[in-house]
Amino acid sequence: MLFRSEVQDNGKLFAEMFGQCNYVPNWYYYYGGLADKIEGSVIPIDKPGVFNFTRREPLGVIAAIVAWNSPLLLATWKLAPALAAGNTVVWKPSEYSSVSALEFGKLFEKAGFPPGVVNIVTGFGADVGEPLIKHPNVSKVAFTGGDKTGERVYALAAQGIKKVTLELGGKAPVVVFDDADLSLVAETLRFASYWNSGQDCTAACRVLVGNKKFDNFVADFTAQVKDMKWGDPTSGDELEMGSLISGEQVQRVAGMVDRAKAAPGVEVTAGGSAPSLAGAYFEPTVLVNPDQRSEIVQDEVFGPVVTIQRFTDEDHAIKWANDCRFGLASSVWTNDVGRAMRVSKALQFGAVWVNDHFTLVSEMPHGGFKESGYGKDQSMYALEDYTVAKHVMVRSE
Ligand code: NAD
Repeated sequence: MLFRSEVQDNGKLFAEMFGQCNYVPNWYYYYGGLADKIEGSVIPIDKPGVFNFTRREPLGVIAAIVAWNSPLLLATWKLAPALAAGNTVVWKPSEYSSVSALEFGKLFEKAGFPPGVVNIVTGFGADVGEPLIKHPNVSKVAFTGGDKTGERVYALAAQGIKKVTLELGGKAPVVVFDDADLSLVAETLRFASYWNSGQDCTAACRVLVGNKKFDNFVADFTAQVKDMKWGDPTSGDELEMGSLISGEQVQRVAGMVDRAKAAPGVEVTAGGSAPSLAGAYFEPTVLVNPDQRSEIVQDEVFGPVVTIQRFTDEDHAIKWANDCRFGLASSVWTNDVGRAMRVSKALQFGAVWVNDHFTLVSEMPHGGFKESGYGKDQSMYALEDYTVAKHVMVRSE
């Protein structure tokens, strides 16, 4: 029921949803294990007759407001640490994908959570999200969504000096050096660029390739993309890509691709348009040689579109990879360990994969640099973000 409702709501594939539903319990398992390991410390001070220690306490009520692209997973990244730290949660799913949240809520009831610990409110951002953020009992807003909405959420939360974490958009660069295993890159991106029709904040969408292997890579990757099977997500298990969230999103993607195609020097090697099919589809697309400052390279498309650009040397690759207002995820592909270490240090992104792209785990922090956000989901860092440190001083003499 859970994965069926998300497939119906957002057009993901059954296989994608099935994988995600198998993955979600990891976060509850991980944070469940941490719930009784939230510790304070005894701190020695240079003063006689007093004993000092810290306690880590829950914040209170958390407003968890999330996007539609992976509704249960995104909510889990907030619910699991918030609950483990002893908070209560009001969860607002996206207006596009509320059904799975309501179904998931029944599991909390079944598991014996006391009434009022996990609460779900549905509706539009302006009608339901804004009053929730402004509610005086809310201590923290944990938000996942677009950067413009994030700015609004941040401003509203400032009114009550509420704590905020913001998981916003991305524009992940994929830096491919000449010594990389090109077939591995192409095979990985076939999945990591087009998973959920490219509607993922970490989607591998901005590929930068070294001079020597550029033409080979474009040919290999284009062949992979042209070979992809996509269409109605309910029509077969062999599909690799389903539909987009809405016709409106298709129009947005098509507008960006049309503007990119119209620029001099840009070549479309795969896809490039919306097919004349009922539903919200866009072809898996590859655009080669767009300008570094163009909209298609700088802005989040949130659709099945990959750009490929050519770089001359390591400095050039790092410069272009970092030349973007987003800073969520990135990857570097090389067999030179020294280069992997240098480049992963230089990349201004919250995650850098080396010879991989996309794998997220409960134990490691996920969160953006720059305009991709503030604070972390996942890992011990997220747990800390749902607590506050209190100082207790006891007169002992
Ligand atoms: P969105 O910003 O339109 O909506 C996100 C949530 O905010 C929804 O629940 C929506 O109802 C609510 N909302 C909208 N306006 C609001 C307001 N004024 N006050 C309070 N709540 C409001 O984003 P979307 O289209 O649902 O999701 C796509 C975006 O999410 C992309 O930019 C994507 O990169 C980002 N995203 C980021 C991450 C991450 O981990 N960094 C993960 C997934 C998606």
